[in-house]
Amino acid sequence: MEEDIIRAGFREIKRKSEVFGDDAGAFGIGDGWLVVTNDMLVESTDVVASMSQEDIGLRVVTMNASDLAAMGARPLYFAFSVGLKESDERSARKLFRGIQLGLEMYGMSLISADTNQSDELIIDGIAVGMAKSLMLRKNARPGELVCVTGDLGKPLSALLIELKGMEADEGLRKKLYEKFLRPVARIEEGITLADFSRCAIDISDGMVKELKAISEASSAGIVIREEELPISDEVREFCRINGLDAYLIAMNSGEEYELIFTIDRDKISSLEIEFTVIGEVVEEKGVWIKKGGKTERAKDFSWRHFSKELF
Ligand SMILES: [Mg+2]
Repeated sequence: MEEDIIRAGFREIKRKSEVFGDDAGAFGIGDGWLVVTNDMLVESTDVVASMSQEDIGLRVVTMNASDLAAMGARPLYFAFSVGLKESDERSARKLFRGIQLGLEMYGMSLISADTNQSDELIIDGIAVGMAKSLMLRKNARPGELVCVTGDLGKPLSALLIELKGMEADEGLRKKLYEKFLRPVARIEEGITLADFSRCAIDISDGMVKELKAISEASSAGIVIREEELPISDEVREFCRINGLDAYLIAMNSGEEYELIFTIDRDKISSLEIEFTVIGEVVEEKGVWIKKGGKTERAKDFSWRHFSKELF
């Protein structure tokens, strides 16, 4: 529903740049690309009780930096507009300290900022970076391998503890929450990848949703092999305790900020970053999961919806 309304709205805007609707927009400058993205954080939908003001400030930089990483760009500048509740004005220093942490982490400088008063905390970040070549959602080709950085499932596991009171002892909880509260954008990976891959996306809404975006933009299909998914021992343990399917958690966990990319088989041995091959691009459109000899359509849950409605 929400997506249909947004799509209809954007049809009204006729003047769009040549790269629009990917992780970030871009335009050619010199022999490279200037890459620009904006991503908004809203308290009522994006913030949970465990997040500190510093976590929130850092997060808004991370989610924007991650969109640059997904395009293969090096982050350079950051801008933001923040709406603060009156009651939050005292804690604004902590929020800004979190933003500073993010700027240091990703090598960016603040270029502009605006503050206002609001009924709830809202921060809209804008990030600018440069890329030598772009990785775009539309560039996946049948025969290529599908890969992902890092491991999957911790943020959704932590969210299920946070919102649904699911079980985990203190040690396990700590390990799951680490990535949930302070995810890290894969900047160096993205820059390296741009020399090898033509198609990437970052995981903000959950892997199935991101794969669908690639599948639709590329008019191709993606088959994921369940046994290849990089799921940590912690997520497996959490799923065992709470009677959940670990692969469903891994495939729908959002705000991971890992990069999914496609790549030619013969390029893979020269790629010097850590990643896992999880599947391949095929002709038949859609996102599929190969599980125990059967291939079925991957189930797509919005991860926040997933955690609130299904458990
Ligand atoms: Mg993105």
